[in-house]
Order: sequence, then C-alpha cells, then structure tokens
Amino acid sequence: MILILLGPPGAGKGTQAKLITEKRGIPQLSTGDMLRASIAAGTELGLKCKAIMDRGDLVSDEIIEGIITDRVKADDCKNGFILDGAVRTVVQAEMIDRVLSGLGRKLDVVVELTVNEEELVQRLNARIAETKAQGKEVRADDNEETFRNRQAVYREQTAPLIPYYEKQGKLQRVDGMGTIEEVSDALSKVLDEVA
Ligand code: AMP
Repeated sequence: MILILLGPPGAGKGTQAKLITEKRGIPQLSTGDMLRASIAAGTELGLKCKAIMDRGDLVSDEIIEGIITDRVKADDCKNGFILDGAVRTVVQAEMIDRVLSGLGRKLDVVVELTVNEEELVQRLNARIAETKAQGKEVRADDNEETFRNRQAVYREQTAPLIPYYEKQGKLQRVDGMGTIEEVSDALSKVLDEVA
C-alpha cells in the first residue's frame, strides 16, 4: 500500500506512521527525518537546509524530489510505503504522481489527520516541557513562534493538497485529536478498507 499522511505539524503523523509500519511492515518515509539526518551528518544538503528548517519554512521542491525519487526505489519499498510529511506542495504531489507512474505504481490513499490548531500549540508546549524535564535536547524548530509559522506554511502551501487529492477520489479524513490509540484504530479502519 502506498499512503500519504497529511496534517499540520504536531498532528501526530510521525507517531501514526510508526504504528502503521509496525502493523503492516511498510517503511515510513519522512523527509523531515531525512533532512535532520543530513544536518546531523553535516552534509552539504544539511547545511543548505538548516536555516530554512529552523525558521519553519519549506525547503525547495527540487531538494525533496532529489531525496524522495531514489528512496521510493529502494528494496524495502517494494510492498508499499508511508509518505509522512513528504508531500507538502502541489508541485511535490505532481512529482510523486510522475515518479510513481514511471515505476508502474500508484498512490492508494491520502489520509488527512484533522486537528485543532490551538490544542496543538498546547500539546507542543507540554512536549517541550517534558523533553526538557527529561534532560533531552528540544528540536530547533520546536518553539511556539516557529511552530506557528509552520502552521501558517501548512495552511498556505500544503492545505491545497486536500482539494487536489479530493478530486482524485483518494482523500480520507481521520480525527487526529483523540488519544494515540483512538487515532490509530480509526486510521486502521480506513486502511483496511483500502487494502
Ligand atoms: P517535519 O519533521 O516533517 O515537520 O519537517 C521538518 C522541516 O523539514 C519542515 O518544517 C521543512 O522545513 C522541512 N521539510 C520536511 N519535509 C519537507 C517537504 N516535503 N517539503 C519541504 N520542506 C520539508
């Protein structure tokens, strides 16, 4: 199954993607994780992206095309994969459609996790406090100001994907504001109907 998870930062896409990976054995492709790994490794790509990511803006569509095109061809993607935060503009959605059709494959379903933005800010602040209390490092883009910018970027650049996939008849919605288990159960039901 090839699946896209949509939803604003903090909606729980990463958490849910990991649960889907456990259940269905298909990998989670998170461009955010890939870019953070490049930053941590000090690569040229990482250096290029760091300031943009720290501000909460989007890196270029070309950079995403470069990292996603090869990744979906890897062996572990044979049975499908989850695009987690990896499609954030209409240009990227068109690119994914092109890459998949070049491989003779197609996107099965897009799930939007619907959320309440103010509640997400409260969740973020709770998560920052918890991470600090554990003595762990807080992500550079995990602060309220950048988080709000990431929400605005989502509304302006990523939300247009909702009508884009609705028109293709691929969009499903799941309430993202429940507990992790509630969201996971609702998501599983949707995916069971697709598989
Ligand atoms: P995430 O972990 O998915 O929230 O991504 C963290 C940051 O990485 C985002 O705020 C963007 O700066 C960058 N990023 C990740 N994926 C993409 C993408 N598909 N397009 C553009 N920028 C991205």
